[in-house]
Amino acid sequence: METYITNILIVDDTKANLIALAALLDSPNMNIFSASSGNEALKLLLKEDIDMVLLDVQMPEMNGFEVAEIMRANSKTKDIPIIFVTAISKEEKYIFKGYELGAVDYLYKPISNEILKSKVNVFIRLNEQTKIIINKTKALEKTIAKLKQAEKRLTYYARMDELTDILNRRGFESEYELEWARAIRYNRKLSMLMIDIDDFKIFNDTYGHLEGDVCLKEVARTIKTSLQRATDIVSRFGGEEFIVILPGTDSKGAKVVAEEIRKNIENLKIRNEKSINSKFITVSIGITTTLPTRKLNRKDLIEHADKALYRAKNSGKNKSISE
Ligand code: GH3
Ligand code: MG
Ligand code: MG
Repeated sequence: METYITNILIVDDTKANLIALAALLDSPNMNIFSASSGNEALKLLLKEDIDMVLLDVQMPEMNGFEVAEIMRANSKTKDIPIIFVTAISKEEKYIFKGYELGAVDYLYKPISNEILKSKVNVFIRLNEQTKIIINKTKALEKTIAKLKQAEKRLTYYARMDELTDILNRRGFESEYELEWARAIRYNRKLSMLMIDIDDFKIFNDTYGHLEGDVCLKEVARTIKTSLQRATDIVSRFGGEEFIVILPGTDSKGAKVVAEEIRKNIENLKIRNEKSINSKFITVSIGITTTLPTRKLNRKDLIEHADKALYRAKNSGKNKSISE
C-alpha cells in the first residue's frame, strides 16, 4: 500500500509550545512545519502544500480566527482542515463560522496528549483517504480517456484502411450496398473502376516492401484527388487493387475518369526500373457500367470490372478498358 506523508503546520507564538507539539506529533509519515505568527503561517501555507493546521487562537497581532478567515478567502488554503488550540473555556468558545463543516476541530489547553493524537489522527486519515481517492480518480480518468481514444480508432479503422486512409474492403462493401440501393431508387446508372498497379511485385522486389507501402499511399492519394465529384467513392479492395464507384455516371463519363486516374499516376513518375512494361509505376483499369435493378446482383458488377481489368493487363498494361 502506498504511504502518504501529511504536511502539518503548527502555529503558536510561544516557542516552547511549538517544540513540545512537534515532539508529540513526530512520526515517519508526518512532515512538520512551524510558524510563530499568523503572518508567517500564511506565507508558509501559500508556499507549501500543507494538509492540516494546528492553530493557536491567542496570538498577538493576528489571532487564530483571523488567520482562518484569511485562509478561507484563498482558494489554495480554503479547504485545509484546522484544529484550533485555545485556552478559552468550552462555554464561551468562539465557534468559527463559515468554514467547511468537519474541517474544523478544537483542542483545549492544557493539551492532553491522547486527545491531541486522536484528533490529529482523524485528520491524517481523512487526508490519506482524500489523496487515495484523488489519485484513483486521476488514474481512472486517464484510463477512460485512453479507452475512448482506442474505441474511436477501432471504429474508424473497422472501415478504413490504415495504410492509405481510404475505405477498406469492409467499408467498400457497406458503401457499395448503399450506392446500389440508391441507384435502383433513383433509376440511375452506376459505374465501377477496378484499378490494379502494374508490376508491383517487381517494384517490391526492387525497392523493398516499405517503399512499396509509400507507393501504395501515393497511388491511393492520386486516385482520390483525380475524382471530381464528392459522391465518388474510393476504396482499397485488396493488396494493390482499388475500386472506385462512380454514382450517376455512364460509361463515357467513367472512361474519362479512368483515363484521368491512369494519366495522373503515370505522371507521378515513380521509378519501377526493372519492369519491362514501363520505367515508371502505372496502373491498369477495368471499367464497367450498369443500370442497377432488383433483378441484378451487385456482385456481378465487380466480376465484370475484374474481367475488363484482366483484358487491360493482357493488352500491355497502363490502359483502361471498358467491358
Ligand atoms: P500485375 O501487373 O499483373 O498486376 O503484376 P503485379 O506484380 O502487380 O501483381 P501480383 O499480384 O503478382 O503482385 C502483387 C504485389 O503486390 C505482390 C505483393 O507483395 C504486393 N502487395 C500487396 N499488398 C501490399 C502492401 O500492402 N504493401 C506492399 N508493399 N506490397 C503489397
Ligand atoms: Mg498488380
Ligand atoms: Mg493484383
